[in-house]
Amino acid sequence: MTATAGGIAEMRRLAREWRAEARGVGLVPTMGALHDGHMSLVQAARDQSDRVVVSIFVNPIQFGPGEDYDRYPRTLEADLERCQAAGVDVVFLATAAEMYPPGYHTHVVVEDLTTGLCGAFRPGHFRGVATVVAKLLHIVAPQRAYFGEKDYQQLQVVRHLVADLNMDTEVVACPTVRESDGLALSSRNALLTPEARPRAPCLYRALCRARDLLRSGERSATALQSEMRESLERVSGVGVDYVAVVDSRTLERLDLVEGEAVALGAIRLAGVRLIDNLRISV
Ligand code: AMP
Repeated sequence: MTATAGGIAEMRRLAREWRAEARGVGLVPTMGALHDGHMSLVQAARDQSDRVVVSIFVNPIQFGPGEDYDRYPRTLEADLERCQAAGVDVVFLATAAEMYPPGYHTHVVVEDLTTGLCGAFRPGHFRGVATVVAKLLHIVAPQRAYFGEKDYQQLQVVRHLVADLNMDTEVVACPTVRESDGLALSSRNALLTPEARPRAPCLYRALCRARDLLRSGERSATALQSEMRESLERVSGVGVDYVAVVDSRTLERLDLVEGEAVALGAIRLAGVRLIDNLRISV
């Protein structure tokens, strides 16, 4: 395995060669600090593609002022080792200087889907995500790109981006990998203090509570949301950004759950922002 020294030009050259192979190229875009959630995407890519590209880039334009760009975990050496062990063909280490050189002007905005949920609390976040994903997909032009359901709104945004801009890449969604206590794996979990860590699964528990209530006959989305919010507000040190029960495709809030829906939430615990979601259905 090589880490790209030659930047975008080198990545482009390799990907162009590899695309011609029978099962082509799978791209796993990440911000590094790789964990088993990321590696499940790599494994899916390994299973389906001849060549696997992992990109590692902490994308500055998806962080707002005062967010955790500076303290976002960075563990490059360990990441490269994990990629090597997993049979990754190349790790594309993008740099902000090359991705956004002076005079950079173009941004991609996916409308509607990005105004609510995390978009309401992180203005500009999805503009940054859509822009970097569009750039990575253009650089690598993979047959398949892998994204986690853990970031559910992001996954829907990427699906729309790819469809709306007629990109020739299949978006493959992979299920959320969790710790044994239910906490969704996230690079940000490393920022949790030992005191806060045991409380972190409260978000997953709240989502499970909504799922269980729905199963026992409660179809009012408002009631499910109130229940989730109350259970989270009982946990000390937790601030709730939002909880929601939405249509799994449009992300619009529901009044009544009648078929497939998704329960989502975002909380702040000891200064760390955690998100999670769970598919729920009648
Ligand atoms: P990130 O490095 O946090 O930007 O994540 C890179 C990719 O890994 C995104 O598509 C995420 O949705 C996915 N991912 C992050 N955490 C998990 C997880 N616990 N399970 C599955 N996929 C994940």
